Amino acid sequence: MITSYLTHQTIQIESEDLASPLCPEETDLRRQLVHFGRWVHRLGYTPGTAGNLSVRLDSKLILATPTGCSKALLCSDDMVILDNEGHKLSGARNVTSEIGMHLAVYRLRPDVQAIVHTHPPIATAFAACRKALDQPICSEILMTTGLVPLASYATTGTEEVSASLEPFIPHHDAILLANHGLLTYGTSLPDAFMKTETVEHFAQVSLAAHQLGGGTSLQERDIEKLKQARARYKQNAAQNPPCN
Ligand SMILES: [Zn+2]
Repeated sequence: MITSYLTHQTIQIESEDLASPLCPEETDLRRQLVHFGRWVHRLGYTPGTAGNLSVRLDSKLILATPTGCSKALLCSDDMVILDNEGHKLSGARNVTSEIGMHLAVYRLRPDVQAIVHTHPPIATAFAACRKALDQPICSEILMTTGLVPLASYATTGTEEVSASLEPFIPHHDAILLANHGLLTYGTSLPDAFMKTETVEHFAQVSLAAHQLGGGTSLQERDIEKLKQARARYKQNAAQNPPCN
């Protein structure tokens, strides 16, 4: 007998029933993980078995993509359910070794509902050169994630990774991991996915601007106006959830 704490309820389930849908919320979130896993793979952000996505089922449980699987080939039943300490509670596959960064974000940001970790090529090139995406040359990035800091290098799959991210998590929605990749998070999987897409686009623009001689940074007063617009945008987004 295994206990699964689902949204607003606790259900006792037999182990042989784990592959069956348990509630409408979980079924939809499994579908979303499959859907956005395929999107990040199609965009070239998760070559091989790279990357992982997760979403909160409730305040105590997380639903995540498993280790060692192409994001193009995942099925709903491949997902694993784990607790806030990273212990697997159900699922035939194993928990990703990179789950520590997800747990750190959920611990420090109660507002976050979903996380996307990928290796988008241009953003990852910035991370490989240990350059933050912190030049305010595009209004769009200031309207969505804000500028993107660079966390110090940490060995993948170790506790060093969450330690390197912790100083940035409370104040940022997107973080570059030195010599590794990108982490974004938000109020839903569509929100976290779109932040990934936006950061990679900003990385492409930043690279092209650099090749053209360097972009022109926005002035402080214009940045402040965009920050205010972002706050309004977040408020509206909370009232009108994105399509998925
Ligand atoms: Zn990674």
